[in-house]
Amino acid sequence: MQLTKEQEAKFKKLGINSISELALLIPHSYEDYRLQEKLIPHANQLIDATVESVYRAPNSIQITFFAHNFGHRVTGVLFRPKPYMMHQFKVGDRDYYYGMIECKIGNCSMSMPRKVTSIGQITPKYKSALRSDVMFRLTRELLNFENLREERLPEKIIEEVLALHFPTLEVLQNRELSQEAVEALKYLELYNYMKQLSLKRRYFQPLVSKRGFYDAFVNSLPFQLTDEQLKTIQDIQKDFAKSVAAKRMIVGDVGSGKTMVILAAAIMMMPQRSILMAPTTILANQLYEEALKYLPRMKIALVTNKRKKASLEEYDFIIGTHALLYRELPEAALVMVDEQHRFGTQQRNMLEKLISKGEKKPHFLQFSATPIPRTLAMIESAHIDVSLITSTPYKKDIDSRVIHKSDFKDLLLHIKREIEKKNQILIVYPLVEQSEVLDYQSIDEAREYWERNFKNVYITHGKDKEKEQVLLDFRDNGDILISTTVVEVGISLPRLTTVVIVGAERLGLSTLHQLRGRVSRTGLKGYCFLYTNQKSSERLDEFVKTSSGFDIANLDLKYRKSGDLLKGINQSGSQFKWVDFIEDTQIVQKVKEDLLLLPKSD
Ligand code: ADP
Ligand code: MG
Repeated sequence: MQLTKEQEAKFKKLGINSISELALLIPHSYEDYRLQEKLIPHANQLIDATVESVYRAPNSIQITFFAHNFGHRVTGVLFRPKPYMMHQFKVGDRDYYYGMIECKIGNCSMSMPRKVTSIGQITPKYKSALRSDVMFRLTRELLNFENLREERLPEKIIEEVLALHFPTLEVLQNRELSQEAVEALKYLELYNYMKQLSLKRRYFQPLVSKRGFYDAFVNSLPFQLTDEQLKTIQDIQKDFAKSVAAKRMIVGDVGSGKTMVILAAAIMMMPQRSILMAPTTILANQLYEEALKYLPRMKIALVTNKRKKASLEEYDFIIGTHALLYRELPEAALVMVDEQHRFGTQQRNMLEKLISKGEKKPHFLQFSATPIPRTLAMIESAHIDVSLITSTPYKKDIDSRVIHKSDFKDLLLHIKREIEKKNQILIVYPLVEQSEVLDYQSIDEAREYWERNFKNVYITHGKDKEKEQVLLDFRDNGDILISTTVVEVGISLPRLTTVVIVGAERLGLSTLHQLRGRVSRTGLKGYCFLYTNQKSSERLDEFVKTSSGFDIANLDLKYRKSGDLLKGINQSGSQFKWVDFIEDTQIVQKVKEDLLLLPKSD
């Protein structure tokens, strides 16, 4: 269906690209422009009336109508009339008028009467970037079965949605949308969104297409990989064998063992080269150490600002920070980004560009520790393949508790006991400097107390230039680390068993979960204390009961019901009006099948 220039302009104003997107902009109400023979009090209705008199007061106009269809007088009242409204009423004219009719002891009045020209039908009213009547005409021009069928929507969905734009009496009488209509709108919303996403995906020829092997690597490990780790490695193995370059996001909770997947991918790519980028020097170092340990036969290089290597040509696996972006890099068949949510889009694009001269592209894998609901992962799979790792290799044993001022003494006892056991404590404050508006201490206010009463107290925050060094020093020598949420960065602190989060109610559940994920990473018993001045918080109470990051992501949705969560993975930050991520998995599945998004990935 070819749009006219005018229609295109209107689409632009509405911010839509297709007729199925137009169909989603349903009316917000209907007006019944059919002429009734009987007067229905307390209803918007139409009269066929002659204007008998018009009386102007300073702030209103009163019009006497004779309504022929009822054989009755009706007084029309316009409050604060705009100039154009006055011209609608001329004594002696007979026209159709529409408005709310009320009757009291035989006297009927119509408030805000309006002249109507197209009568005899139920007319939808639209609230959109276009005026309702313009939108009305646009929908009449474009919304029909054939046009929607051309966009390959299922018949049932088309019928349900058209019924909302071309209402029958039934639609008018139902005060709420029917179950079927809501389902159809969910379908349509997902269909439009996922179709857009899938159109954005570009397919490239890979530099190398091959079947890689990981058995020897897996057998050499001191532990067994979890089912989900293995499944993810197999996903990647299949990706590498395809004739298009892989584009996959691996989402796994903190501690779910993503590094093993990274290493397996590098092994499968051998003898071709792989590159891995990490957001911090510490993390790059850690990955480098692990790669050296588990991949003894590979030649591995570390690239950070501090470590310069003359040539990288001879290495199989190059691991580094964003310092990589400023280096001359040799061609690599696989590019990976760890903790991708910590990089800006710009940095990620830079990396991709840097290594993809020519037509062919390297396989691209991103790793993220921000859990997303399974449904969202399915939706996003329209433009990027997604693997989820929802379990951790060993069960973390973390006691989570909401605490208040009155619990402070007990907290101190707990901290002392942990320090005696050579364990470490992290205390997270909401701010660095004192603030008037916040009734929690800042780091500046609290540090004196901790430094006076404890030894080996380390302090850092997000803007601290030395923070990486402070974290390293703390790891080796510290008892207590005072910080803002900066420690979110994936550095491993094996002796950290307790995290205290001050003003916990101010943070999102995902952030709380990330912080909690820092403790008990090596199987030690862990503790997470949420310190709050609030008497009670249902959100925090539910948080302490849940340990899975994927459940937390769902909880977050429940409490926020917004697109915030989408930010990391979906840069457009689009919001769904009808779809519910927790409940609508089946509809997502159906849309995926209908859009033929499934066969490509498996
Ligand atoms: P993350 O997903 O947060 O990057 P890591 O890859 O750092 O997690 O793994 C966390 C810890 O779990 C590491 O010490 C790692 O060696 C260990 N690990 C990974 N997989 C397994 C497994 N299958 N069994 C036992 N320990 C594992
Ligand atoms: Mg990791």
